[in-house]
Amino acid sequence: MLEVEGVVAAYGAIEVLHGVSVKVAAGDAVAILGPNGAGKTTLLRSIAGFLKPRAGHIAFDGRDITGIAPERLVRAGVGQVLEGRQLFGPLSVVENLRLGAYARFGKSPRADIEADVERVYALFPRLRERRLQKAGTLSGGEQMMLAVGRAIMCKPRLLLLDEPSVGLAPLVVKDIYNALQALRSEGITLLLVEQNPEAAFALVSRCYVLEAGRVVHEGTTDALRASQDLARFYLGASDEDDDL
Ligand code: ATP
Repeated sequence: MLEVEGVVAAYGAIEVLHGVSVKVAAGDAVAILGPNGAGKTTLLRSIAGFLKPRAGHIAFDGRDITGIAPERLVRAGVGQVLEGRQLFGPLSVVENLRLGAYARFGKSPRADIEADVERVYALFPRLRERRLQKAGTLSGGEQMMLAVGRAIMCKPRLLLLDEPSVGLAPLVVKDIYNALQALRSEGITLLLVEQNPEAAFALVSRCYVLEAGRVVHEGTTDALRASQDLARFYLGASDEDDDL
């Protein structure tokens, strides 16, 4: 469904991605892991159309999408939950959700959009409770729920997520990942960047590990778990564990 081939990306003179290739099959859930500054967010921003690659190609459903604008990508079926969550702080939860369906305005009947708002509430009951509250006053976890809910209002077939667990308490992370699992069961393909591999491992079947702008490992989650060196680094296994 998504093919990233040899992508080179840079900020000014500083090259951050040096030829990254990633593939995501329809219906799959894939994680991009790696240390701070590896270029994970830069890769997601390049796919999402916020940063034009200097070289390489990106295809979605066999169609070249390299460098196309984010809003066109949303219309093509690629939803995004990127860093900063990009919510409209002064607007309420329900207003943010309705705005998430902007690509469908004039096409989908109003009743369909309202039915999808209900679907988001079913996924995140907390958002129903908070539906009239301003997005800017929500907790971090609720804002992440709203960002995911808003992204699915445009009925994406592929959802890109940048660190859905960042800064959140373990119970909230569980709620978010349960919802992502439900979306996957509905057939939405997921590509997510994570600093918290344990959270991601419960969901994804394949991982890529980025280091200094290059893919240093790709494979199944099980293979990554089995690889001792990678496990030590990315799963936080300490030297003390070796002595047990
Ligand atoms: P983290 O997990 O810390 O977010 P990351 O793997 O997502 O890390 P990126 O955010 O993609 O890494 O950053 C990769 C490199 O690009 C870093 O060295 C960072 O300083 C640099 N970088 C990121 N954004 C910009 C920008 N807007 N201008 C210049 N350099 C940037």
